[in-house]
Amino acid sequence: MNKTVTLAHGNGGLENNELISKVFYRAFKNEILEKSEDAAVIHGGELAFSTDSFTVSPLFFPGGDIGKLAVCGTCNDLAMMGAKPKYLTCSVIIEEGFSIRELEKIVRSMKKELEVNGAIVVSGDTKVVPKGSVDKIFINTTGIGEIQKKGISSNLISSDDTIIVSRDLGRHGAAIFAAREGIELTTDLQSDCASLYLQVEALLAAGVNITAMRDATRGGVSAVLNEWSQQSKVCIEVNEEDIPVSEEVKGICEMLGFEAVNLANEGTFVLAVKKEDVQKSMEVLHGFSNSENATIIGSVTDQYPEKVVLNSSYGTKRFLDLPTGELLPRIC
Ligand code: MG
Repeated sequence: MNKTVTLAHGNGGLENNELISKVFYRAFKNEILEKSEDAAVIHGGELAFSTDSFTVSPLFFPGGDIGKLAVCGTCNDLAMMGAKPKYLTCSVIIEEGFSIRELEKIVRSMKKELEVNGAIVVSGDTKVVPKGSVDKIFINTTGIGEIQKKGISSNLISSDDTIIVSRDLGRHGAAIFAAREGIELTTDLQSDCASLYLQVEALLAAGVNITAMRDATRGGVSAVLNEWSQQSKVCIEVNEEDIPVSEEVKGICEMLGFEAVNLANEGTFVLAVKKEDVQKSMEVLHGFSNSENATIIGSVTDQYPEKVVLNSSYGTKRFLDLPTGELLPRIC
């Protein structure tokens, strides 16, 4: 590994995983951490516990802002473990000179999104640092959720599961990039930033047998599928033509040489669901506006264990690897 930290170490892909395993996991090693779930399952399987820091630039973007993102990010990680978000902390590092009006706007966004989740902030911290020590504002949220259904785990995926994505991919990454670079778009491309607990709640209420769920944030759907295939020691096969990508996102990807499967999402999740419950899952997901186009994208096999295979529309196969390189820093 490099002697210094590079931007690639924060990409949600290969280098990021290397940093985590070689520095943090090595020091903190324990049974719960090693499960590498979206949130830690603690207290006899009753609680989910997760933390996330937010450094997004720009702070305000089409479809959201750093406040909305800070609540969605942590609440979604809890929801992905089948947990109802309950208690959050809110910790901010603010640069001297930051506008109180903008700060209030960010906090109002947080309040609104907390209400969507039925969660409350019960503890927090504020630090103000001299101008130039941080870029405007960074936010950390930590959350605790009550697990509604035990046993959801990215370590238990098998060939009995089908892989579903909740909506079209890459909106958050593409929207942030366009906003940051001042790219004039003819369409109103917005981030997918949204809370996912309501969908999870409805899936559980319908009795769907969910094996695993993960929100496809940094590293996109590629990272989720690669992590799942390694954790569960299975091969995940995905059909390229079934992967939903909007025309706007396709346009940005072509312009910049990105792949939509590697772009970050902030309100899009991947599900591994038992085959017999796929129909029921789709019915539930299609009832929500932000998952009305949920799609089956693949299956689980034992062909190439710990690999993700992308079947192209031309009948060729290739491995879909963990994203590498700098991608887009400060995406979340
Ligand atoms: Mg996550």
